[in-house]
Amino acid sequence: MPAAKWADAETTAQGKSRAVVPPGALKTLWFNTGTRCNIECANCYIESSPRNDRLEYLKLTEIRPFLDEAREMGAGEIGFTGGEPFMNPDLLAMAGECLGRGFSVLILTNAMAPMTNRKAELLALLKRHERGLRLRVSLDHHTAAAHDAERGAGAFDKAVTGLRWLLDTGFNASVAGRTFVEEDEAVAREGYRLAIGREVELTVFPEMGVAGELPEITTECWGLLGKAPESVMCASSRMVVKRRGEEHPAVVACTLIPYDARFELGRTVRESWRPVALQHPHCASFCVLGGGSCAA
Ligand code: SF4
Ligand code: SF4
Repeated sequence: MPAAKWADAETTAQGKSRAVVPPGALKTLWFNTGTRCNIECANCYIESSPRNDRLEYLKLTEIRPFLDEAREMGAGEIGFTGGEPFMNPDLLAMAGECLGRGFSVLILTNAMAPMTNRKAELLALLKRHERGLRLRVSLDHHTAAAHDAERGAGAFDKAVTGLRWLLDTGFNASVAGRTFVEEDEAVAREGYRLAIGREVELTVFPEMGVAGELPEITTECWGLLGKAPESVMCASSRMVVKRRGEEHPAVVACTLIPYDARFELGRTVRESWRPVALQHPHCASFCVLGGGSCAA
């Protein structure tokens, strides 16, 4: 029987030494606010939906010990991702706690009803903490047709309306796009500018590939690709998740692999601060070959 791809932490299916990312300095601690989302996208990597509670809503009291650790370990930024973070009743209290402790905060959102229903709370947060709060809005593509094919009819108009409100109101908001429509980057940038009605900071993220077609990442790849292990997200960040039914949150290697037990690294950030073996297809498609990073 040939060895299976992605199976062994130390060796690839071809018998080569698997790439490992050693921990560097902690820059960003992410909290997964929970997997519930107001919509159900065709290719949501975390399979969010209005019903998916595989990751529960994190509570303010639960994140405090992790913030203490993040501060002690020198992190400057806290990120919130989901699901749709604004579905979590504690989101704005958690963001306020982080800002009050001097962290900068990045919230990922689809800018639809869960966010726009909480405009008053968001404005109050902005008033208390003018600096340090950023929001990143997912707009898969700059055309309604492509965005709505992923997210459902009408999603594009709602997201653009939410994004424009953020920009008009003085929030520091940027856009996360995707590369699933093949086009020149300059064309994409101009498309977003026209759709939103102004220039806005744009990050275009690579697609997650199909597991069977992706090469495993070996220690030789770093040199061959001219890429440094320190440039990969798991060298400088971790994500806290609360699995349904578990008493305590857990710390996983990165925002991209919330369910795979091999990437659950401990109960605390310190415990999780150890090397990560790149044994998941996302390591290849998104981080090493695709060049993506959720880092700000
Ligand atoms: S909006 Fe984001 S979290 Fe919600 S289903 Fe779509 S991709 Fe997933
Ligand atoms: S997918 Fe996660 S574990 Fe794999 S290389 Fe990227 S950041 Fe590291």
